[in-house]
Amino acid sequence: MTELLDQDIKYLKGVGPHRAKLLESELGVKTLREFVTTFPYKYIDRTEIHTVNNLREDMPYVQICVHITDFNTEGSGSRQRLKAIATDGTGYVELVWFQGAKYYERQIKLTERYLVFGKPSWFNGRISVVHPEIEVIRPDQPAEGTFGGKLQPHYHTTERMKRASLTSKVMTRLMTDAFALLSGHDLETLPEYIRNAYHLIDRNEALRRIHFPDSAADLPEASRRLKFDELFYLQLDLLRYVRRRKQRDVGTVFAKVGPAFLDFFQNHLPFSLTGAQKRVMHEIRDDLRTGRQMNRLVQGDVGSGKTVVALMTCLLAIDNGFQACLMAPTEILAGQHFATITGLLRDTGIDVRLLTGSVTGKKRKTILEATAEGRCQLLVGTHALIEPTVVFQRLGLAIIDEQHRFGVKQRAMLWAKNTIPPHVLVMTATPIPRTLAMTVYGDLDVSVIDELPPGRQPVTTLHFNSQEATLHDGLLRQLKEGRQVYVVYPLIEESEKTDLQDLMTGFESISAAFPEYKVGIMHGRMSSTEKDEAMARFSSGETQILVATTVIEVGVNVPNATVMVIENADRFGLSQLHQLRGRVGRGADKSYCILITHNRLSDHTLRRMEIMTETCDGFRIAEEDLRLRGSGDLQGTAQSGMPLDLNIADIVRDAELMAVCREAAMHVVETDPDDSLPQNDIIRRQLKIMTHREDFSGIS
Ligand code: ADP
Ligand code: MG
Repeated sequence: MTELLDQDIKYLKGVGPHRAKLLESELGVKTLREFVTTFPYKYIDRTEIHTVNNLREDMPYVQICVHITDFNTEGSGSRQRLKAIATDGTGYVELVWFQGAKYYERQIKLTERYLVFGKPSWFNGRISVVHPEIEVIRPDQPAEGTFGGKLQPHYHTTERMKRASLTSKVMTRLMTDAFALLSGHDLETLPEYIRNAYHLIDRNEALRRIHFPDSAADLPEASRRLKFDELFYLQLDLLRYVRRRKQRDVGTVFAKVGPAFLDFFQNHLPFSLTGAQKRVMHEIRDDLRTGRQMNRLVQGDVGSGKTVVALMTCLLAIDNGFQACLMAPTEILAGQHFATITGLLRDTGIDVRLLTGSVTGKKRKTILEATAEGRCQLLVGTHALIEPTVVFQRLGLAIIDEQHRFGVKQRAMLWAKNTIPPHVLVMTATPIPRTLAMTVYGDLDVSVIDELPPGRQPVTTLHFNSQEATLHDGLLRQLKEGRQVYVVYPLIEESEKTDLQDLMTGFESISAAFPEYKVGIMHGRMSSTEKDEAMARFSSGETQILVATTVIEVGVNVPNATVMVIENADRFGLSQLHQLRGRVGRGADKSYCILITHNRLSDHTLRRMEIMTETCDGFRIAEEDLRLRGSGDLQGTAQSGMPLDLNIADIVRDAELMAVCREAAMHVVETDPDDSLPQNDIIRRQLKIMTHREDFSGIS
């Protein structure tokens, strides 16, 4: 049975070596098994046959059953076309072919009855169908033809496939042959107890329905069943992978909790931790006791207090005699972290240092020495930290902030910095729904800070389509009250000249509009010293307005800034807008975010602006963002190295079903820890097939 499914697709009747090559190169299909899980992407309803007198040009694709009464070819060469007049007795319709006129001229017979399928249009004062599909209906056949009054499946085909006549229609025929060949074979992949528990139809039936549905009513159960298959095995794979990893990755034990620094710090903290911060600290402490390496992702909205959690974890490490490092994606951020941290740790006597690309010469040498000798207890920096010249005496913890800029490889380089790999804590302000996070970051445990510190006011967000006067009045009121303002311009590529020009023009017009105030500027073309200086001037209040590009996107903290103006907001993605908005509302004062657009907006863009004005909840925004963008981006950033090899399921659209599948997979892993229960034989067989296919064992 397995052998037949694994048979090379070229042996299927009608395929052969040439088409087999195409199926492999274009669709990645090599075997019969892969062929039957190549699913239609849409269906066209062919259940109804219309009468000619009822055709209207606003109808979608329709089918009619007609005789052809006359036809002739007009024009010549590339302008040649074939016109035919057809009738079903209720009226006349013109059928027109521009391509293949010769071919159809030879095919058409006045004696035959045809099922004609196409889109009606109004042409030359009569109803016509351009480039219809036609099919001869024999006198003894029902009028519905091949699709038997059903839905017609459509398969993705590429240009190369079409050139080899491997059209969707041919795919359907090959699929029919494949199913004929497999008839009587059991294609089941799930144990009965799981099918029963989750009300899933059997797989043979699901596959039949998805390829050859009798009606639209056949599809929901079939697609749920087949999506379940993909997501269940995806989750099972992940869970087993994580289990293997946990059994293998040793880590240092942080036995002590807070005798020196952590307790001191907590006692001097000017606020108490939120419930969410406490919960996450507990999760982290539990990890650090196990003797296995921690790999944890902390998701939290902008301003939820991730930095405090990060710092307390560093103190745990230091209390246990280890060094810690904190890596940020930009120099500005690293500098800010360093400033915040040295401030918070001032009275502890802990040795904290800053290492970025621009720290050079003797200064750099001193830092490297202190780190190698273990005197430096906490090293803050950019990716300069992962360079081989940076050697730690006893690195116990690595924290990566705003992880979306760091890849798996860079994390692995950090691992290598200690004989026993350091614990890793990743902090991200672009949260994604939990189940999704566990799938995309398969190798990370996920913690969520889902609560903001008390007293935070939501940032009032407004969308203007170039209403400068109103905007200036508003800004002036805030400035008069002593508040500060950011004005942000998009700069997608630091080299884009027009963007830089926009920024400069904006800077000039704002300077002119607010002559009593000092305006600063900051962009990616400036050196890091210049940027630091610009930031410092704004931070200290020397400048009241900062005109900048997205270099200020993450982490920047100036509590007195209450207005974020985002120019050409339509050019930013949702999560980027949310990040930028997070730069205000950090103090006690009421804050505003003003989104400015100048163009007529597409529905999509308008929706983004609406979401921003409706909510400040980062998790909701992340979800909407995913919904608008689809899962493409996510799949690209998959951290686990897991192939998200899905033909029918989508991790974003089917997130709910994925949660169900995760639960089902979890149940299997927990109830059958040593893979021995007979009712799971079928699962083991399936996993083996997948392992074989993906060479999956290689990545663990
Ligand atoms: P994030 O890194 O998650 O964006 P931060 O850690 O920078 O957030 O915290 C934002 C601000 O909130 C900081 O000024 C920080 O001191 C403050 N903060 C953090 N936790 C609390 C808390 N539990 N109560 C009050 N303020 C807090
Ligand atoms: Mg932060």
